[in-house]
Amino acid sequence: MIARVIVDVPSRQTDRPFDYEVPQELQGWIEPGSRVGVPFAGRVLQGFVIGLAPLDTAEVDRSRLKAIAELLDPLPPLRPDLIELAEWVSDKYCCTMIAALQAMLPAALKGKAERYVRWSESFEANEPAAAAAVLLPEGMREWLKRSGAVKLDALRERFPDAAEYVKAAIRLGLLEEQVAIRDKVSIRKVLTVFPPDNVEEAEIAIEQWPARAAKQRDILAHMLSVGTSMPMQQLLAETGSSASVVKAVADKGWLTIREVETERDPYAGRLFKKTEPLKLTEGQAQVLEQIAASVHAREPKPFLLHGVTGSGKTEVYLQAIQECLDMDRQAIVLVPEISLTPQMVERFKGRFGDAVAVLHSRLSHGEKYDEWRKIRERRAQVAVGARSAIFAPFESIGLIIIDEEHESSYKQEESPKYHARDVAVKRARQHGAAVVLGSATPSLESYAAATAIRSQHGSGASAAAALLTMPGRVADRPMPPVEVIDMRSELQAGNRSMFSRKLYEELANRLERGEQSVLLLNRRGYSTFVMCRSCGYTAMCPHCDISLTYHQKTRLLRCHYCGHSEGAPAKCPSCESEHIRFFGTGTQRVEEELVKLFPGIRVIRMDVDTTTEKGSHEKWLKLFGERKADVLLGTQMVAKGLDFPYVTLVGVIAADTSLHLPDFRSAERTFQLLTQVAGRAGRHELPGEVVIQSYAPEHYAIQTAQQHDYESFVREELMHRRAMGYPPYCRLILITMSHEQLPMLTDVGERFAQRLRDAAGVAGVYGRVDGTSGPKALDVLGPVASPIARMKDRYRFQCMIKYRGNVDATGLLNKTLQPFLQGTEGRGVQFGIDVDPHMIL
Ligand code: ADP
Ligand code: ZN
Ligand code: ZN
Repeated sequence: MIARVIVDVPSRQTDRPFDYEVPQELQGWIEPGSRVGVPFAGRVLQGFVIGLAPLDTAEVDRSRLKAIAELLDPLPPLRPDLIELAEWVSDKYCCTMIAALQAMLPAALKGKAERYVRWSESFEANEPAAAAAVLLPEGMREWLKRSGAVKLDALRERFPDAAEYVKAAIRLGLLEEQVAIRDKVSIRKVLTVFPPDNVEEAEIAIEQWPARAAKQRDILAHMLSVGTSMPMQQLLAETGSSASVVKAVADKGWLTIREVETERDPYAGRLFKKTEPLKLTEGQAQVLEQIAASVHAREPKPFLLHGVTGSGKTEVYLQAIQECLDMDRQAIVLVPEISLTPQMVERFKGRFGDAVAVLHSRLSHGEKYDEWRKIRERRAQVAVGARSAIFAPFESIGLIIIDEEHESSYKQEESPKYHARDVAVKRARQHGAAVVLGSATPSLESYAAATAIRSQHGSGASAAAALLTMPGRVADRPMPPVEVIDMRSELQAGNRSMFSRKLYEELANRLERGEQSVLLLNRRGYSTFVMCRSCGYTAMCPHCDISLTYHQKTRLLRCHYCGHSEGAPAKCPSCESEHIRFFGTGTQRVEEELVKLFPGIRVIRMDVDTTTEKGSHEKWLKLFGERKADVLLGTQMVAKGLDFPYVTLVGVIAADTSLHLPDFRSAERTFQLLTQVAGRAGRHELPGEVVIQSYAPEHYAIQTAQQHDYESFVREELMHRRAMGYPPYCRLILITMSHEQLPMLTDVGERFAQRLRDAAGVAGVYGRVDGTSGPKALDVLGPVASPIARMKDRYRFQCMIKYRGNVDATGLLNKTLQPFLQGTEGRGVQFGIDVDPHMIL
């Protein structure tokens, strides 16, 4: 036999399968999906077997055929459907097969780590496993039990013919596969606090402690009421106390502090309160009915669920998942990384308990691997996770849910630059699964795909979907009223502070009433665009309807789409005011000003600086939830998914900063952000209120967000997109080229763009793509210098392919790219390709 192997060389030149002989002793072990070591260019590299074939079909002569050197895992880590999916990803996103395959595996399986197999203690409870035990080769069971964990190679050598039995035994849970992960976090020692054994004595003693020991008393009382050990960190978070106080109690002998090795299951030992299905509202029931029907029919049908904030989408997801589990099939739930907070996880664990595996990037490699194994070994039926959870190795998926489907974190920004939404639709087709895309502010691509717009233009990036809507909040709670403050008149009235008089007043009210506020600083586009503080004028590109970006070094304003540039103005071209500025303000400055204006105010600041530590995000939210702060101040991360009953004020400091990003999605992102953050107010009994500060209060993104009017926003935005020829009326491919030498790069860039235009001409599709062009066209813009014009000593240029209609743009691109990569024409220029890009910057 030979194996077709994709070798781990991250280069487009070697992006194809290579043939290797399967040595006698590995036959039976190796299948499609196996990970192997193979000799390649003088070294042994890792590779994935994507197929097996008879020896005589090898591409090279038997004498030159090399053999597979080693087998890396007892069970193939990839399933056949994932190999097929990788081929699709590599095709659609113009990336290498190896990049696509590796995106599907947990990091622990990428490096080279020792593989062990051991007898599982817990199998006795598992009947099929116990029955299978008798089928194992003679002596294996005793040998394994005696030796503990044995290396895979040792097992193979001792029992060379046992491949099928060993693999079956692992699948049944009789044997356990282990990886020695060089990942310090995987064996964590956690400082843990233990309550006293003599509870009654402690309860009596505590009564007699003097008042000055109140803090110590609180700690002990808390430990007594909890009754079990807990990590020091958790104790501090729950009591708001400090480690020195805990130590003082321990010194008195009432508590014990000790380092404990913890399990890797990040949710181990946490009890999730079991929740029962809620009685659905009529709106929810109608939506569920349609989704359930599709799950039962095994139709790979995407739904777009447009439900306002607080409409109860999660309960619909939960009950749809139940339908899927009842059919003995599995479900994947994608949520944005940032909302994978305990609040969110709790909702799924609370309903489905241990059947839920959680995958997100804050887990250590070891933790992620353990969660992944739960899925593969069928111990979990529901995967909740960020983007890459779409590759969860389930066998029979019945339902895929993408919550907050408009979130840009579903697009991966490194190779493979896939979008989880599109991969979900493809994977659902493979499995016959239903897909639910949920959002209060669906992306224009998805909305267009779900309405008539797509069929008129036939160019949407997403598959056609059926639209489901939930237009009202649960229990008829009102949407919060939104007031928009014109910051230009604040300046006129002599208020130079970053807080309008209205926002100041409302904040003061909240402090007085003991209610909480969320303040959003929309910091995207920090300090890079130019705006007049007197009239709100912003500098725009005359050709692109996109704001210009200020380059400090050259003092020029530049357009990142077409390359237009002009000098930065000293006076406002519109009103001649000198208050024209490069815009941006940091959260730290806002915090300083808050403290100055409201002495004693308790502020929790959440931004990249304060949330780098593992668990810090959760910690801040927990403190806020316990009302240990008056204001939660932060960037985008405070806008999403939070559900706190005492939040009655939401303030947006600078609504416009994201309006003027040099990106055609800037209005859409602004509308989404404002709608989401406004949705945090008044979700419970206390009514909420929203104050948005803006220099462009008349902008439709702000006006429609004020009215909670998604449809009107979409209508207006689609008109602009159509006029300018932007998605969903066309599609884009961004090509980035880089090289150390600038002249070489410009030369190759120009020629490559021309070659693309020629190829499009030959195919008969070359032409402008904008409001005036026909149903089928492809245009090539650029090359222009990339926004980050030099990176790691390499200059960068970019081209944009813009096309609409039934045009095979990736095919055309690949055909044009090949000669540049293989011949001398490219001269060492590196090409990066981003299909349906989200970050134009
Ligand atoms: P969304 O995700 O649509 O913003 P959620 O799923 O967070 O909304 O639901 C908002 C609130 O309404 C939650 O507190 C949830 O528990 C509650 N809820 C949802 N469905 C129901 C129902 N059928 N009956 C009562 N409360 C519900
Ligand atoms: Zn331009
Ligand atoms: Zn002006």
